[in-house]
Amino acid sequence: MNATPEPQITRDEEPENWSKGLALVAHPDDLEFGAAAAIARWTSEGRQITYCMVTRGEAGIDSMDPDKAGEIRALEQVASARLVGVNDVRFLDFPDGVLEYGLPLRRAISRVVRQTRPEVIITNNFRDVWDTGELNQADHIATGQALLDGVRDAANRWVFRELLDEGLEPWAGTQWLLAAHSPRSTIGVDVTEHIESALASLAEHKEYLAGLGDFDAIDYVRTLAQETGRRYGAEYAVEFEKVTLAT
Ligand SMILES: [Zn+2]
Repeated sequence: MNATPEPQITRDEEPENWSKGLALVAHPDDLEFGAAAAIARWTSEGRQITYCMVTRGEAGIDSMDPDKAGEIRALEQVASARLVGVNDVRFLDFPDGVLEYGLPLRRAISRVVRQTRPEVIITNNFRDVWDTGELNQADHIATGQALLDGVRDAANRWVFRELLDEGLEPWAGTQWLLAAHSPRSTIGVDVTEHIESALASLAEHKEYLAGLGDFDAIDYVRTLAQETGRRYGAEYAVEFEKVTLAT
């Protein structure tokens, strides 16, 4: 019989010396299906984290008109964030489902990076597939790619010069980008103490989850965190690809 594989504990690679984070994703609910438990842990440690949604997720509920869905989903996101210690929630108001990588998205991301001046940026997986092997979605991929470039743009005074006119000086202090559930994950964050608040924050997406029918999102996220935890030697864990940013 084979020995149990060594748990891949790489906690030493988790960024530690930081106080301000920006969690930026395409849709309301993206963080709750991914990074929220780790965010709950980080805010409990006294770190300040801002949420920024590129869209309001208005195309996410089949039975509901986008105008109404966008309004409800934004409110659900604000309530959800509060449960993991986040009180600053922003929306960039790009169109859901048809998000395009490009200069408008890079500019908007640069703006929020300069406004919030984070040392760490948290996002969702932007690779073609998830760590589970499932195919990723176009908005997620466009957001991640624009985010990697938007962070660099935020540091360059001569890119998007109109941001200077808005009083936003360059910010070159972002040191790491963490992408949850990437197939290239390199760190596992132990979230054993924070899984319940993360699941409660997921449950705040009431209308969205109702629109998913029989799919039990709470059970899905709990099981995923358990399976990830097993690989990192924790009861529950969230894994991230860590990108060290050269600015
Ligand atoms: Zn999404």
